[in-house]
Amino acid sequence: MEIIDASYLISSPSVDMCPEPNQPEYAFIGRSNVGKSSLINMICNKKEVAKVSSSPGKTQMINHFVIKSNDKKEWYLVDLPGYGFAKVSQQQRKQWQKMIEGYIRTRTNLMNLFVLIDSRVAPQGLDLKFIDQLGEWQIPFAMVFTKADKITQKEVAKNVKNFIDALSESWEEIPPYFVTSAVKHLGCKQIRNFIGTINEEFYHKKEQGLI
Ligand code: GDP
Repeated sequence: MEIIDASYLISSPSVDMCPEPNQPEYAFIGRSNVGKSSLINMICNKKEVAKVSSSPGKTQMINHFVIKSNDKKEWYLVDLPGYGFAKVSQQQRKQWQKMIEGYIRTRTNLMNLFVLIDSRVAPQGLDLKFIDQLGEWQIPFAMVFTKADKITQKEVAKNVKNFIDALSESWEEIPPYFVTSAVKHLGCKQIRNFIGTINEEFYHKKEQGLI
């Protein structure tokens, strides 16, 4: 699947303010500075599509983008506010949790949540905890190990393995994952094709009147 166009649509403070859930939707989340904006820009084939989400007033919102792909399909890409900011108050953290939980658990057209993980570091408790929570809520998700160009392939492989091993303690089946680099354009095709395949299923079911 190729991207033809990506444009900013709207920022919403809660799930009930989001656009009609009439298109397949894919959301991106991760710790701050994990490389989320760079990954979104890479997938959308645009230099600064995700810049909107980091403008004042939008960093704590659910940011929707409309994507047009060459399979003649339209879908939503959602940039969610990151977790793990050091400098946020208890109050802000609670607000974030409420908004994210509301969005993740009730957004009916959410086909997949991409959870971004820094490939340079050992497994972090915060990421593992978040993923375990997704399991409890039965949310479809995939992991994306970012910034893979910054260390050697061997080191990336070691960190990914350690993460998967840590997950294996509580997960029987390991969810899909991707290794990416926005600098080297690594993993982009794989993520786009993953989305393309799910879109096909969505539209097939829609044509049959199943959704
Ligand atoms: P966000 O806060 O999660 O949206 O992260 P950004 O996309 O803004 O990236 C944070 C920093 O990491 C920036 O300085 C980026 O240039 C850098 N960065 C992001 N992705 C990559 C990558 O794949 N490779 C390298 N080398 N740097 C990256």
